[in-house]
Amino acid sequence: MAEFQCRVCDADGLETLDAFAQIARVTSDCKPWPAGGKMAVCHRCGAIQKLPDAAWFADIESIYKGYQIYELSGGAEQVIFSGDGQGAPRSHRLVDFIKQTAALPPRGKLIDIGCGNGGALRTFSGALPDWKLFGSELTDAAAPSLRMLPNFVDLFTVEPADIKDRFDLVSMIHSLEHMPEPSKTLRDAAGLMTASGVLFVEVPDAETSPFDLIVADHLVHFSPATLRLLAERNGLSVQVLRNDFLPKENTMLARRGATAVTKPDPAAGIAFARRNIAWLGAVMDKAAAAAAGGKPFGLFGTSISGTWLYGALRDKIQFFVDEDVTRVGQSVEGRPIVAPSAIPQDGVVFVPLIPSVADKVIARLSVAGAQFVGPPPFGM
Ligand SMILES: [Zn+2]
Repeated sequence: MAEFQCRVCDADGLETLDAFAQIARVTSDCKPWPAGGKMAVCHRCGAIQKLPDAAWFADIESIYKGYQIYELSGGAEQVIFSGDGQGAPRSHRLVDFIKQTAALPPRGKLIDIGCGNGGALRTFSGALPDWKLFGSELTDAAAPSLRMLPNFVDLFTVEPADIKDRFDLVSMIHSLEHMPEPSKTLRDAAGLMTASGVLFVEVPDAETSPFDLIVADHLVHFSPATLRLLAERNGLSVQVLRNDFLPKENTMLARRGATAVTKPDPAAGIAFARRNIAWLGAVMDKAAAAAAGGKPFGLFGTSISGTWLYGALRDKIQFFVDEDVTRVGQSVEGRPIVAPSAIPQDGVVFVPLIPSVADKVIARLSVAGAQFVGPPPFGM
């Protein structure tokens, strides 16, 4: 038996993708992290995943010890920008989606598993004022601020399997991809639901966003097919699953109940795992080449991909460009974050986004004297 089984289908079918070990990483709270991760893809189901060896557990322990979510925004939640520059807080859009899609009763109990600093619970509190709110997290650090929510009841720091209450809505918003045993986590989540309860899961989509692979503390890099497989293998019936509601993310609503397991095509997952790792290497090379031109060089964005390139090219970076007004005027290790209108004359700005989105950003911002450089196309 191999040392690791697939975290989605439990098969002995993992192939390690050696090229990934050379690629720098970043943490999910946007700090540079060195190369050296171990990535694999399952030949039975196509699921892309890191290998949870002792080094990975040591990494996540040290990442979570210093975790500072949304530091540049002063703790405020990440704003989701579409290609046209319009922004809205992520959890508002998700809670609206749940209310519209799940036909929730006027009163009920909900628990947010992996609730972090309570960004989603705050939104739930406003949108579902007659519901009782609970959270689950590794520590009780967020308890004082959560208790200020009028309908908040309790924060659990025990294993979800040890929680005795049952809930009409169980949410996992950007937490399942961190879990060392995602099958167990989903089974436990299903066990927390009432018979008519709803499970809501939001995870990054590695199919439309190759940058998910570089996040050191994400274990499984889901696609719609592999998220569906994990849910169906663990006693859940998928009601809605799409990767076009929020950009770069999978949004899933499920209920309890066995269904036939939809077998994914492993070839698709294997192909985009290889393609995306090769593309990340090509992005790094193109950014390094653009930085070597002798002009003031900056990066577009201060989130995952911008921080990733910064970690690899540190000395070459003079400034960051961001459209999020809460970040403009701040700095990253002494490099100023400027608005697009304040890019230095004759500056060069690299845009580390997927090609279709980078094209839109570059078309929109190419007004001043700055030169924008986009990523290489996929499949190079
Ligand atoms: Zn598998």
